[in-house]
Amino acid sequence: MRVAIELHDNKADVLVVGKCEKRDAHTILATGGINAALGNLDKKDSWQVHAADTIREGGYINDAKAVKVLCKNATDAVKELAKWKVKFHKETNGKITQRFFGAATYRRACFVGDYTGKAILDSLVDQTLKREVRFKNEIYIVSLLYAKGRVNGAIGLDIRNGEFIIFHSKIVVLCTGGHSRMYKRSSSRFWENNGDGIFLGYELGAKFMDMEMFQFHPTGMVYPQEAEGLLVTEAVRGEGGILTNKRGQRFMEKYAPEKMELSARDVVARAVYNEIKEGRGTKKKGVYLDISYKPKKYILSRIPRMYKQFKDYVNVDISKDKMEVAPTAHYSMGGIYVDHETGKTSIKNLFAIGEVTAGVHGANRLGGNSLAEIIIFGKLTGKNILKELKSIRFTKIDESLVNDKVLEIMHKLGNERGKDPIKIKKDIQNLMWRNVGVVRKARDMKKALKKLHKYKKLKFKVDNSLIMNENLIAALDIRNMLPTCEMIIRSALFREESRGAHYRVDFPETLDKWKMNIICNVEEDGIRISTKPLKKIPYDVNKFLKKKSDVSNLLLE
Ligand SMILES: Cc1cc2nc3c(=O)[nH]c(=O)nc-3n(C[C@H](O)[C@H](O)[C@H](O)COP(=O)(O)OP(=O)(O)OC[C@H]3O[C@@H](n4cnc5c(N)ncnc54)[C@H](O)[C@@H]3O)c2cc1C
Repeated sequence: MRVAIELHDNKADVLVVGKCEKRDAHTILATGGINAALGNLDKKDSWQVHAADTIREGGYINDAKAVKVLCKNATDAVKELAKWKVKFHKETNGKITQRFFGAATYRRACFVGDYTGKAILDSLVDQTLKREVRFKNEIYIVSLLYAKGRVNGAIGLDIRNGEFIIFHSKIVVLCTGGHSRMYKRSSSRFWENNGDGIFLGYELGAKFMDMEMFQFHPTGMVYPQEAEGLLVTEAVRGEGGILTNKRGQRFMEKYAPEKMELSARDVVARAVYNEIKEGRGTKKKGVYLDISYKPKKYILSRIPRMYKQFKDYVNVDISKDKMEVAPTAHYSMGGIYVDHETGKTSIKNLFAIGEVTAGVHGANRLGGNSLAEIIIFGKLTGKNILKELKSIRFTKIDESLVNDKVLEIMHKLGNERGKDPIKIKKDIQNLMWRNVGVVRKARDMKKALKKLHKYKKLKFKVDNSLIMNENLIAALDIRNMLPTCEMIIRSALFREESRGAHYRVDFPETLDKWKMNIICNVEEDGIRISTKPLKKIPYDVNKFLKKKSDVSNLLLE
């Protein structure tokens, strides 16, 4: 939406197309905050320290130039949002309050209660509506159109009335979000983050980077099914929450005796994973998180959303009982390779921004940076597109080819006799969770890859109805998931080390020789893996990176 605002303000004709209602994009789930080194509470903070924190957390393989752009522009982005009526929490002196986020040297995250993402999305929607930007909601983009070596539109399925729609455009910007739904347990909702943007780029032969890098949050809900994976905020541990296994052992003593529950996200995620794997988890395959020793009043004042979440979903009063938690797939650091300053992908007239892209976060994302990313790179991409638009002409669309394309999609997906796509989708998510999740090893990943190739050959049970057809949607989701999963596995197999969120039990060390990005090139005969040297870290950031920083105990949102 930030791209749309920039384009519209400069008289470009723009249409925002989304699979859901415009105020309901996945961004509304973002709770804790948006980073900007305003220095309101910690005067020593600066964009350089922010950049150094980002690169350190990213395992030193971030696109360092993009990090510099992000951190330098973050303060302006927050000021712009405040001007657009995002009601950030303020101090009595009127300055925006900032709080700690994991691995941040200073208090840097600006927040609106625990619904920062919703507040930001609402303000962007209000701004677009004020400008009368056009929207098309509940359209599932199934393919991009391409002619004469460039993108010139998209084909969408109107989920409600079952019509296929052709969008004819000079350029397309993918802002389709992440792909955490490759995994059975995910902090996103089940209908989103299915790798749509990855597939749309893949189909045209785009380049992808660091697909192996996937962040697992240590604490997600374990049950009921509809809430499985839902985030249990880090603030619970920050407020003193204790993790125990089914034997009542406080197991973090064994894994990280100093920092215990306040260790880095990947350390806690692996510890929880290990306890469950070795049979010390609960019957429902979780561990316990307990804050019930704190007074109810305190819990209600500090983590009200968590109190409500457990009461609503499982009727557990967390001021009296333990929560059951387990790791959950949370954020996709890998994605489409772009030049962040322009938003350009490797495909002509195709741009991308946000969680669908790779580079800014490297091997692990610093909490609070993704909201900043979508605003900052949205604006920059818009600015760049404006420059390019002048020289781009409409390329004609051959409607008969579009018809053929739709028929081809439907034919490839299946027929009345195919397999149940809803079940197969779950099978794939289970496969990825079991074999390419928090802890990885070659044997498991090879097994998953083999199985994935079998899924590629399946036809699904899809009838001719196009209106609100759950099977059709699931079959389309699987089509998007398969290359996304394959790229994750192939890249994870290729990177024979552990770095950031990527942990190989068969290669547990972090090795200098792997300080590079892994690229997936889409070629006629499939995916080819290559490597790319890192961009040089700008001098002004490098200076700060050399300073020692120990911030892993600062988890609070
Ligand atoms: C529980 C949770 C808490 C978080 N907390 C924070 C936080 O505190 N701070 C922070 O910085 N980040 C946080 N994040 C991460 C952050 O929310 C996301 O990275 C960010 O919102 C992604 O924004 P996006 O614009 O890239 O994509 P999204 O917000 O996911 O939007 C994607 C859009 O693309 C549309 N779309 C997708 N596929 C198609 C298709 N085929 N056809 C048409 N439309 C399509 C969707 O409908 C949607 O509108 C959190 C994430 C989660 C899950």
